[in-house]
Amino acid sequence: MKPAPFAYFRPHTLDEALALLAEHGADAKPLAGGQSLIPAMNFRLATPAALVDLNLIGELSYIRTDGETLQLGGMTRQRTVEQNESVARLAPLLTETMPSIAHPAIRNRGTIGGSLAHADPAAELPAVMLALDASLVVQNTRRQRSIPAGDFFSGLFSTAMEPGELLTAIRIPSRQPRSGFAFREISRRHGDFALVGVAAAVTLDATGACRVARLALLSVGDRPVVAEQAQSSLRGQMPTVEAMEAACAAAADHDIDPPSDIHASARYRRQLVRVLTRRVLETAFARARSAL
Ligand SMILES: Cc1cc2nc3c(=O)[nH]c(=O)nc-3n(C[C@H](O)[C@H](O)[C@H](O)COP(=O)(O)OP(=O)(O)OC[C@H]3O[C@@H](n4cnc5c(N)ncnc54)[C@H](O)[C@@H]3O)c2cc1C
Repeated sequence: MKPAPFAYFRPHTLDEALALLAEHGADAKPLAGGQSLIPAMNFRLATPAALVDLNLIGELSYIRTDGETLQLGGMTRQRTVEQNESVARLAPLLTETMPSIAHPAIRNRGTIGGSLAHADPAAELPAVMLALDASLVVQNTRRQRSIPAGDFFSGLFSTAMEPGELLTAIRIPSRQPRSGFAFREISRRHGDFALVGVAAAVTLDATGACRVARLALLSVGDRPVVAEQAQSSLRGQMPTVEAMEAACAAAADHDIDPPSDIHASARYRRQLVRVLTRRVLETAFARARSAL
């Protein structure tokens, strides 16, 4: 299949790109790595009248830190994030997750901003951004705003971004002392989209009790899901087997309403959530204890 005809623009700066998006409105789409958009256009699931190619805009591709936050430019390639030492130190959950996304060839082109803007409920990065309590910075010709990850994903392939806005940066709070993390997913073959995935980030207090627990699930609904009841069942508790079991039950039985589809039944997805939540919590708490 070939895409429907479209106009093609290749700006060199962010300002030029924003001006083009403002001019063409909802008919235009930004092109990042093209790993989701181009197949969708070839199948004519997407028929934008204009593409604004972001690939020549160097100012959107960076990894920086000011000590308190890790900042990623929207056009930073997934593979660059995977291999970066600052990311591994300050947001190890991200480093652990990256190899689960597709294959190296796709991660070489795919961008961090493209994955988040695409908002596939089976994608890893949206759930990981929820677990990391990240903020997503979006910009148009008139203003810049920062959206908490929890408010960014609004439905199936939908976000809080408006036409004309670009996701320019992702800000992730740096890892705290006494914190641990883990990511696990199940897919039929490595690199396939996951049947279910779970990301966890926990922080202990000085007594070893759970101070913060963030759990985010993918492939269990029309968007990434924060396991609210599981999180609150852990807060203030010592991370015992019983406490973890209670959190797994809350996540699987109360926090999700998973779909049945050709890949997995709802019942099977609940069981995967139960098992994977247990595994990520055990690992995350063990890592937090060793970071005391
Ligand atoms: C075979 C295959 C397997 C894959 N498996 C996985 C997987 O297991 N897990 C996973 O998460 N992903 C998977 N992907 C998708 C891959 O991660 C994509 O790279 C990603 O979803 C989109 O990133 P991109 O940079 O290619 O964006 P593009 O395809 O260029 O764009 C995607 C969408 O986001 C918009 N967009 C892009 N950048 C911005 C921006 N900065 N601001 C605003 N809007 C923007 C575009 O207009 C478009 O609507 C797979 C892809 C393929 C082809």
